[in-house]
Amino acid sequence: HLDQLREQFTGNIRVLCRVKPVTAEDQQEGSHATVVTTDLDNDSVVTMLHKGRDRTFELDKVFQPQATQEEVFQEIESLVTSCIDGYNVCIFAYGQTGSGKTYTMEGSVENPGINQRALKALFSEIEDRKGIWSYLITVSLVEIYNEVLRDLLSKDPSEKLEIKINPDGSGQLHVPGLRVIEVKSFQHIKKILALGRRNRITHGTKMNQHSSRSHALLTITVTGTDLTSEARTTGKLNLVDLAGSERVWKSGAEGDRLKEAQNINRSLLALGDVIQALRAKQTHVPFRNSRLTYLLQDSLGKGNKTVMVVQISSLESNVGETMCSLKFAQRVC
Ligand code: ADP
Ligand code: MG
Repeated sequence: HLDQLREQFTGNIRVLCRVKPVTAEDQQEGSHATVVTTDLDNDSVVTMLHKGRDRTFELDKVFQPQATQEEVFQEIESLVTSCIDGYNVCIFAYGQTGSGKTYTMEGSVENPGINQRALKALFSEIEDRKGIWSYLITVSLVEIYNEVLRDLLSKDPSEKLEIKINPDGSGQLHVPGLRVIEVKSFQHIKKILALGRRNRITHGTKMNQHSSRSHALLTITVTGTDLTSEARTTGKLNLVDLAGSERVWKSGAEGDRLKEAQNINRSLLALGDVIQALRAKQTHVPFRNSRLTYLLQDSLGKGNKTVMVVQISSLESNVGETMCSLKFAQRVC
């Protein structure tokens, strides 16, 4: 019965698009003509002017530049409940560097993003179920940089980790040495995430001095026990701030930087392939083509829920990358 129920959720993938507003910083850079328009009457389309003609893309939902963090969160809020109920959930932010991925996931002190809002909602919902269910919550935070996995909560984040198949015969993956911390409250997890943020590697490229060239994967595992029947559920909430999707030539990369950029693009391509295969209900899903998809395979497959937030810039100067991002969105939609 559970399998049947889960089956209904196969292909439960939603693709959202968030258009970044033109910020004061963008205006300083000079080029602030915009080529992207959203439709007030139809929130599932976005149109961009490309090479003299309008190209319209239809996605599950498009957020206007003026959309608030709260509005974006409302769109994924129900997935927090799904996770507590035992589903594995993935939320990705995709887009070129500077398009607002980190803003959407982490946000700022005044305007927290999806991560904090989801965690707050998680702890509050668990509190509401007190006396009926008891929950164990753990957190881990890894970075995948240049196809190398590192633990951002480790005392030594420079150490490389490997993904292994659990020797217990379950076929489940595990990462030996990964720090998995039990968390008791929202305040506690906030502290842990501050440590992780400090450990995250950033490398300058010509495109953005502080651009993030790595994927950051925050995984919250929620194990619930029904206090009367002792039945158990386990759900995972995977929150992923992906590396910038910009193509190599634009960042003027050479040598190591070039290899890095190719690896990043390859893993984003692999993610796109996996989501497309899941959507098409293909029997073979190429999870093993990148560390990220390999690590997430038990959260991306059948019976899970995925949201991809494709971030775009509306600036004319970014038209090429925006086109690529919208094509990616369309491909996985
Ligand atoms: P990315 O992580 O994709 O490289 P960021 O999230 O760092 O991009 O965004 C780049 C800049 O734009 C940051 O200064 C961020 O605060 C700002 N920004 C992004 N999205 C918004 C938004 N919706 N509203 C206001 N500022 C934003
Ligand atoms: Mg970022």
